[in-house]
Amino acid sequence: METINNYTGNILIADLASGECETEELSQELVEKALGGAAINMELYEQYKDRDPLILGTGFFTATFFPCSCLAVLTGKSPVTGAIGHVPLTWQVGVELKLSGFDFVVLLGAADKPVRLWLHDGLSDINESQDVWGKDVWESVDKIREAYGDDMIQTLLIGKAGENKVPLAQVSENYWGSKDSFGFGAVFGAKNLKAIAMRGLGALEVAEGFFQKCIELKNEILNGAIKGKSGLKDFIAPLGIDTSIKAKIESATHRLNACYNCPYPCYTFFKYREAPSVMAQTGVADPGCLTSGLAGLTRFYMLGIDAPRAMEKCFKVGLQPAAAAQILEKKGIKDLAAAEAALDALASDPVKPEGSTWPIAVNLPPAASIFSSAIPPKPVFSPVSDFGAQDAGQFWVRRQALAYTIGMCPICAVLTPEVSTEKIVELVRMSAEWDDFSVDKLNSILDNLIAKSSG
Ligand code: SF4
Repeated sequence: METINNYTGNILIADLASGECETEELSQELVEKALGGAAINMELYEQYKDRDPLILGTGFFTATFFPCSCLAVLTGKSPVTGAIGHVPLTWQVGVELKLSGFDFVVLLGAADKPVRLWLHDGLSDINESQDVWGKDVWESVDKIREAYGDDMIQTLLIGKAGENKVPLAQVSENYWGSKDSFGFGAVFGAKNLKAIAMRGLGALEVAEGFFQKCIELKNEILNGAIKGKSGLKDFIAPLGIDTSIKAKIESATHRLNACYNCPYPCYTFFKYREAPSVMAQTGVADPGCLTSGLAGLTRFYMLGIDAPRAMEKCFKVGLQPAAAAQILEKKGIKDLAAAEAALDALASDPVKPEGSTWPIAVNLPPAASIFSSAIPPKPVFSPVSDFGAQDAGQFWVRRQALAYTIGMCPICAVLTPEVSTEKIVELVRMSAEWDDFSVDKLNSILDNLIAKSSG
């Protein structure tokens, strides 16, 4: 098989009903048709639509040197919207998946007992997972890493909410929840799939000169709209969120973290079982929690409770924090103990999230519903005109479609006007040695993704 730069060339077909895995070749034809990420996921979804598919895929640039190229995307039918949803998975998920030897994973059917999928070194196994069924997300991550003997394993998994198949259930990236606003935790639960565990020690072929171009683009980003800003705290004022929340975030912040190759560390670690000002961790078990979920954090602060601790509870049971906080607000809950009890109850409650989970007005067109609502609903530090766009809502949908296809974090995508469509086209052309790739071709791939997902 001829190597396709940036990809491993493998699609895994994991039949959960039979317990069998097969590997198929990622064809040049499919890459030229849909490029990657959500766009190829959608093609695979349609190909297998009669077999209850859930598709996990990486973008064209995922795990390369392209800035913010950490992304994997989970595509399937959402129990929240009843339609197609694409979940962006950040941190290390896309990198670990691709370097474990698989660009795309097609999960078919349902297992008859709890299982997990284990991916490493180009190998795949569907293993029994009764040992962690019923355990919370944090304990399950530890036990799965222990079972496979490697602390660096990345996991996508569910807690009690997913096992109970409730629409508020999230698929979690390791301990810290995710940007899943589609209830795919319930889809994992219905498939009896507790977890996907991945360890990526492989390598990718990239085109000559690609690394240098990516370094130049990253430097441009670092000196552009994000310069001098960091963390979730700096999103507050530009997004129009209650500015008193910024001080609350700052006083509890221990450190900021960034996902793979990201120039903007938005992940914020809150320390509350020891002083946040003590930089070292002194052996206190579970000193705090890490999140990039600003909508949930803000909503919990607006209830007047210790928001990071409420986020921790959501992460442990596997609930979508922003939607859960919205429900707690309706119940009139105003203290942490009551909130934790209510969150426990929500992990068994078939209630659905309602509307936008942001505590600000959101004006997005209907097509936006195919992408995660956890992403800031407008550019954060720059006007849309800096991205070469006019209509803010249309811009958001297309920018998300682009990020989910090339494998760029969709939060980064709304922070970085320096990453223009023209530069992306140049880098795709160079990487794929695809001389006639053009802005028009990229636009038609994005149009197809949006049309097929919305149809
Ligand atoms: S913007 Fe935040 S979520 Fe996105 S890649 Fe950077 S650190 Fe990760």
